[in-house]
This record gives sequence, structure tokens and C-alpha cells, in this order.
Amino acid sequence: MEKVLTVKTKEELKISSLKRGEIHRFQIHISDNALGVPWRVPLVVVRGIEKGPVLGITAAVHGDELNGISTIFKLIEEIDPKKLKGSLVLVPIVNVPGYLLNQRYFSDNVDLNRIMPGKKEGGPPSNIFANFFINKIVKKFDYLLDMHTASHGRVNSLYLRADLEVEETRTLAYLQNPHIIVQKSDEQGTLRSWANENGIPCITVEIGNPNAFQKNLVDETLDGVLNTMKYLKMIKGKVRDMVTDAFVCDHSYWIHSKRGGIVEVFPKLSDEITEGQVIAKVYDVFGQVKEEVIADKSGVVIGKNVRPNCDGGTRILHLGVNLIEPEPEEIPGHEDFE
Ligand SMILES: [Zn+2]
Repeated sequence: MEKVLTVKTKEELKISSLKRGEIHRFQIHISDNALGVPWRVPLVVVRGIEKGPVLGITAAVHGDELNGISTIFKLIEEIDPKKLKGSLVLVPIVNVPGYLLNQRYFSDNVDLNRIMPGKKEGGPPSNIFANFFINKIVKKFDYLLDMHTASHGRVNSLYLRADLEVEETRTLAYLQNPHIIVQKSDEQGTLRSWANENGIPCITVEIGNPNAFQKNLVDETLDGVLNTMKYLKMIKGKVRDMVTDAFVCDHSYWIHSKRGGIVEVFPKLSDEITEGQVIAKVYDVFGQVKEEVIADKSGVVIGKNVRPNCDGGTRILHLGVNLIEPEPEEIPGHEDFE
């Protein structure tokens, strides 16, 4: 027999009103659609017995980037609220309209992760959605992990974008121990940038490919999240050594093809490539090579294009460069929360 779930809708996240030692599932009314029906964002709050930090995890800010949803579901199964300090606030789907359309953008074709914190008076509807989302939910976090994937037609390794020059975000990044970490000073309009500017240390976790659940990458991400929770003293356990096998890059960029046609990209994800290496060939529709795309620097492959039919100027390969040897860092001590 099917289980009937009745889920309440609330106007705002008020963690203090939720019973300790339990898992709470409800929706937050963000803004309204053209039928006058609320856009509701699903929320799972695991409220621990004891005091501690509020760790927020957001997924599907881009509606077709789904691996974060699986990570959140597995995390819920792992955590016993009776043994948790502080609260986990899990948002499996932020961009509800985009998720329903299976697309990156909001229903007005705006990228939510370029307009944060939106505008309270609106403008395009995405702006008021972004603003209510920040005010009703994100403001309540002490830390934030924002889960993404590659965009449509591309594939990613498990990589992080984080500001490594700031101790708190560098620590969050190292705790995750992904394949690759890229130094990013905060990019205007991203959720990460808004959070970091407002005292909520945040990193972006890029988990593989869009439109999929990739078990191995999800498991690795979950491992990093649990490591972070141990570091924050939310759960018991020894913090794993930080950054054991990650490439750390101080910069990354996309290499483009000049010609249009049928594109084949050769290196695999996380491969190290050298300056001058042929990384892709562009064929015409008669099978003749029109262009060999050459790496202009040595580096590591963060992501790549997998869609063969490409116009001239298409992004071919995402290259992380200037590899930094991460210093075997002492894990900074973390104070208990009051
Ligand atoms: Zn994304």
C-alpha cells in the first residue's frame, strides 16, 4: 500500500520552533507562480539534541543538476538526530521550476546562480524567488555546501570551487578531499559569493554530470560531508586527513574550438595534460579534420564537452592550471558552538 504523505507548508524556516532530536520534512513558500499557486521548496531539517552549528546543504540551484539530491538523501539515512549536535538543513531542490522543466535556468530563463541575492521588489520573477530563498532559508545557516554538476552536454570530475585564501573556506574545501580544487575568488551573483560576503562560509561542490545519479561520486561527496560534520563536531568521529590526493589549481579556464563541426575530445576527466598536446579534433561532416585543438598550458582536466555537434567557439575542455602543492595543513581547531 502506498504511504500517504502530508507535508506542511511554512512561510519561513524557524529552526528554534522545531523539536530537537527529530527529522522534520516540510516546504517553504517562496514566491507564487502565474496560477497564484506558491512555489514551494522542499526542506528536510535534522535537528540535533544538543546545540551546535547549522549546516545548510543546497542542491539543484540549477534544475538539471541532480547528484546533490542523491547525496542529501543518503545523508538523511546516515544521520541519527539523537546523536547530532546542531542542525542540518537540507534543500534537495532549490530551483523548483527549473527542476520541473529539467533545465538549468529558472522558468524565466534566468540563471539563479548569477543573480543572488535577487531583488525583493522582483524584476524578472527569478529575482523575487532568489530574494525570498535567501531571506527565508539561507540566512539561517552557519555554513553552506552548495551542490552542483557540469552543465548540459558536458561532464565533470568531482571538483570544488572555493576561496583558498580564506582559512574557513579553505578548510571546508580540504575536508571534502575531492579530485580537484580550483581557487575561486567569489564570482558575483553566485550563492557562494552571497553567503561568504554575509559571514556564512560556503564552497561549491561540483559533482559529475547533469541529469544523473552517479553513485561513486555521490558516495565520495557524502564522505566529505560527513568529514566536515566531524570537523564541526556535529557528529562523533575522527576527522580524516585533509587533501590526500586532490589536484589544487590556482586558476581554471575553458579551451574553445575555433571551427564548427563534429568534435571529439581525447583526454579523460582528471587526466594531466601537457602544453602543446592535441586535446581535440574538429571534423567536417565528410570526416576530414578541420582543426586540431591544442592545449596552450599544462594542467588537469576538470571537465569536458561530450556533445559531438558543435558550432565554432564551443567550450571543449575545462583546464585547471598552475597546480599548487597543498601544504600538509594542520587542521585548525574548531571551537564548540554556544
Ligand atoms: Zn550548477
